[in-house]
Amino acid sequence: MNTERYDVVIVGAGPAGLSAAVMLGRAKRSVLLLSLPGRRNSSATSVHNVPFADGAAPAEIYAKMESDALRYGVEIRWEEALTASTRDDHVVVEGARSGPVQARRLLLAAGRVDELPSWLPDGVWGRSAFDCPYCHTHERDGGAYVCVGHNAEALKLAALVGQYATRLTVVLSDPEAARSPLAGLLAERGTDILVDTVARSALLPSGCLELTTALGTALTADTLLLADVARANRRLPEALELDLTAQGFPETTLYGLTSDPLVYSAGNVEGSPYFMWTGAAASGINAARMICEDLAFTTDLMKRGG
Ligand SMILES: Cc1cc2nc3c(=O)[nH]c(=O)nc-3n(C[C@H](O)[C@H](O)[C@H](O)COP(=O)(O)OP(=O)(O)OC[C@H]3O[C@@H](n4cnc5c(N)ncnc54)[C@H](O)[C@@H]3O)c2cc1C
Repeated sequence: MNTERYDVVIVGAGPAGLSAAVMLGRAKRSVLLLSLPGRRNSSATSVHNVPFADGAAPAEIYAKMESDALRYGVEIRWEEALTASTRDDHVVVEGARSGPVQARRLLLAAGRVDELPSWLPDGVWGRSAFDCPYCHTHERDGGAYVCVGHNAEALKLAALVGQYATRLTVVLSDPEAARSPLAGLLAERGTDILVDTVARSALLPSGCLELTTALGTALTADTLLLADVARANRRLPEALELDLTAQGFPETTLYGLTSDPLVYSAGNVEGSPYFMWTGAAASGINAARMICEDLAFTTDLMKRGG
């Protein structure tokens, strides 16, 4: 079989993967970028806290980044990377349509997986429901905020968005967390804290969400914040048998090198729940820089007898 060979295969065309692709393309490396189309923020209508692009549509930013990558010779294929494995001096990535592709280095930039509750109506995520207290709250100043989660993460969200809410409610299932000092402080400031779970919800014509808890409380939310929905995307890291953190993210150096010397990871490396766009892009740049140096100082110079 005639397997294709690249300097670098990147999995994931979000801010991490596209930033890395542009830098590697500019370094005249042969790069194949394999990606599914949906980025984490694809359901939102705008991005915020992104330098030079505040308020732009995500699709607009990604289209510009894709055209930059293409201009620098990066090949983009819209398909899933099914699995990956390393050999002595190269990596083999299995594309859903391309089949096996070889690369000298692999950059994993496949983002996180959002596990949304089954009661969340379609079309709400990224519009009036979020997991981050920083990205879209300023645009939703005023109105009723409801923070939902299992434990103290829901309380932390509430503590970070109180300045936007005319009414703030926390629904959390862990009674221990509801007795914590943070819960006490929030209650003193007028936050309603319910030890309960959301059983169902409906999107009202006004755009508000109507939530009904398991104990029968009805709540209206102009803005809903969900704690702890983003999970590590473990599929390829597990296939590659990388060392993982307790949360399932690849263990990496500051510059994205994983426990496998041929594999880098960017974008989803940090465990924090509020991991943002520019941080993902920056980690893609860091990883791309390290891959350039890795390829130049190890393989290229050795081939030339340096
Ligand atoms: C609703 C919402 C709104 C947000 N708004 C903002 C905001 O305004 N400002 C901000 O700073 N941050 C925002 N964020 C966070 C931001 O979107 C993420 O931090 C950022 O997208 C992470 O970048 P990434 O490159 O790591 O992953 P992603 O952007 O998720 O990109 C990963 C890519 O890999 C693809 N992929 C996954 N698995 C595979 C596979 N096996 N094979 C091929 N491709 C694969 C995915 O489909 C995707 O295209 C928001 C997040 C959400 C959920």
